[in-house]
Amino acid sequence: MAKKKSEKETSPTQIEFQAEIQKVLDILIHSLYTEREIFLRELLSNALDALHRIQFEMLTNRNVLDEGAELAVYLETDEAHRTLTIRDTGIGMTQAEMVENLGTIARSGAQQFLQAIQKADEKGQTITADIIGQFGVGFYSVFMVAEEVTVASRSYRPEAEAAVWQSGGQGTYTVGPANKPDRGTTITIKLKEDAKEFAQPYRVRQIVKTHSDFGAFPIYLKEEKPPAEGKEDKDEGKTEFVQVNQQTALWRESPREVEEEKYKSFYQQLTLDFGDPLLRLHTSADAPVQFYALLFVSSKRDYRIFGIKEDYGIKLYSRKILIRENFKELLPKYLRFIEGVVDSEDLPLNVSRETVQTTPLLAKIKSVLVRRIASELEKLAEDKPETYRTFWREFGGFIKEGIATEPDSHDKFVDLLRFQSSQGTGKDDWMSLAQYAGRMKRDQNEIYYILGDDYDVISRSPHLEYFKKHDIEVLYLTDPMDSFMLVSLNEYQGKSLKNVDDAGLDLPAEEKTEETEPEATIPTGLFEALVSRFREVLGERVTDVRESKILTDSPCRLVNPPGAMNTGMQRVQRLLDKDYQIPKKILEINRHSGLIQNISARLAANTEDELINPLIEQLFESALVEEGIHPNPAEMIPRIQQLMEAAAKMQGM
Ligand code: ADP
Ligand code: MG
Repeated sequence: MAKKKSEKETSPTQIEFQAEIQKVLDILIHSLYTEREIFLRELLSNALDALHRIQFEMLTNRNVLDEGAELAVYLETDEAHRTLTIRDTGIGMTQAEMVENLGTIARSGAQQFLQAIQKADEKGQTITADIIGQFGVGFYSVFMVAEEVTVASRSYRPEAEAAVWQSGGQGTYTVGPANKPDRGTTITIKLKEDAKEFAQPYRVRQIVKTHSDFGAFPIYLKEEKPPAEGKEDKDEGKTEFVQVNQQTALWRESPREVEEEKYKSFYQQLTLDFGDPLLRLHTSADAPVQFYALLFVSSKRDYRIFGIKEDYGIKLYSRKILIRENFKELLPKYLRFIEGVVDSEDLPLNVSRETVQTTPLLAKIKSVLVRRIASELEKLAEDKPETYRTFWREFGGFIKEGIATEPDSHDKFVDLLRFQSSQGTGKDDWMSLAQYAGRMKRDQNEIYYILGDDYDVISRSPHLEYFKKHDIEVLYLTDPMDSFMLVSLNEYQGKSLKNVDDAGLDLPAEEKTEETEPEATIPTGLFEALVSRFREVLGERVTDVRESKILTDSPCRLVNPPGAMNTGMQRVQRLLDKDYQIPKKILEINRHSGLIQNISARLAANTEDELINPLIEQLFESALVEEGIHPNPAEMIPRIQQLMEAAAKMQGM
């Protein structure tokens, strides 16, 4: 930073905005956005941040300018001159810091905002309130309402000089020295003609109440004194600063005493999500650690457009002082969709990523929180199945990720899993493993599942025939995350989870004995000849061809040879690897299938029959499609046409 020199200069310097910033500004200046009031929320949030930072600084640093000044924000309006002023006694900025913070893109939500705009543009969407509202474009949002903005600031460092930054948002800004003896930042906004409402105290009060009611420091607004009772109103027209925000640490109150509305507006101010949260967890603990927590799950995973934002994490307070924002170490990564506040009396103020390991306290808070979140979700599943279904749809992937990545989390989260199933009434019927276990057959020792990309495809899979016939439930795993999860989830309540395409299934005994030879079948000699022909045609593409003991109607299916990578892992490979190779499997063929019988008959009549080989090829490739592992199904078309041509010819004869 080239600060010393520029700070000594006496006349203002003109500097161009970074190109990206100018782009953001152009959009904001010309936006016909109805919720322009959020500019004030952004400026207040910056002021409150600056106050948090000076508070933190004062705890560790004795050398601070204006140590006695009240930590607060002061708002002043001037309708006649169409101005709004926001003053704080926060940490302040030097001239170099102003250039750095208010002229470059790296410093704010602006970068994300630009990306969102580009994304919306590509999709042909218009730039809506959502985009502006959700990104917290930060300081720059002031240009939605400002003709000109003046930022005068003085850093908390006693030796630093005051500076002033000024811009109309049109290409350039100026910075220079200022005469400001006291610590903090004063932002003066000359409002555009069409934004003069923001120079009215009642309007400003309303915005503070809506967006910043729970700020940790007082927000004062200069208002007219109400006429004093009885006396002649000699005070009329006089003004005074009145606190407008509530300034409560809601999380420290007793949940029984907090009104629903307060929770809701706290949530909205915390997350900037304008909807309602799906779930709230307001809890506290005394042992083994003391803390308060107020956590939320939003009702939509991507209310922020990009889904879970990069800077997820909890707001961490120690004795009501914000010590870390977006603190990621307090919850496991897979719970990153949870937002909220944790406040503990016991935490050291210098807590950081590095100190996590050496602060057993945090580990304790974390484990209590994880347990409470899990049981809160279980309660939700029990008490409000409809809401839980929404939760599962939006956030189920994170729970699966937890199971996949942290085996320790199994017992806490495994009962939250939901799957579609062969016994469900349709795509929207979701089962838990407990439900499955509760209706297993008497001799059933395994939990069966089938993997696939799509409910409709797998519900017709030949692998299911046996299970449907014998009324054994099979779970449908259609989420790409499922394959990852299965790598570490292989049993539930002592029952192994088994893929229905596993060659060595331990099927219920009573069902197996029922499996007596059905009527029509192919004589053994002919069937052996057919199997040999299959082997010849398919060669290296299969590990073996053999008779199926399980199929009833379908002609064939592919199963995994013993010792092969399971289908789940194969799917993971396919998702991760560009040079995917079709895994080799065993082709099982069904002696009772009409189609197989006809092929066998053709072979018996004439070993040179031209249709036999393409039929075998096609059966094999169709099975690949059913497994979801065909690299390019379109390649089958010429052969299908060849077979259709043959079929059409026979009809004509
Ligand atoms: P963000 O708040 O996301 O960092 P902003 O655009 O809102 O982005 O603000 C940019 C930066 O300007 C802040 O990070 C902060 O360093 C600085 N800043 C803005 N307002 C103030 C203020 N009132 N006091 C001190 N610094 C401020
Ligand atoms: Mg900000």
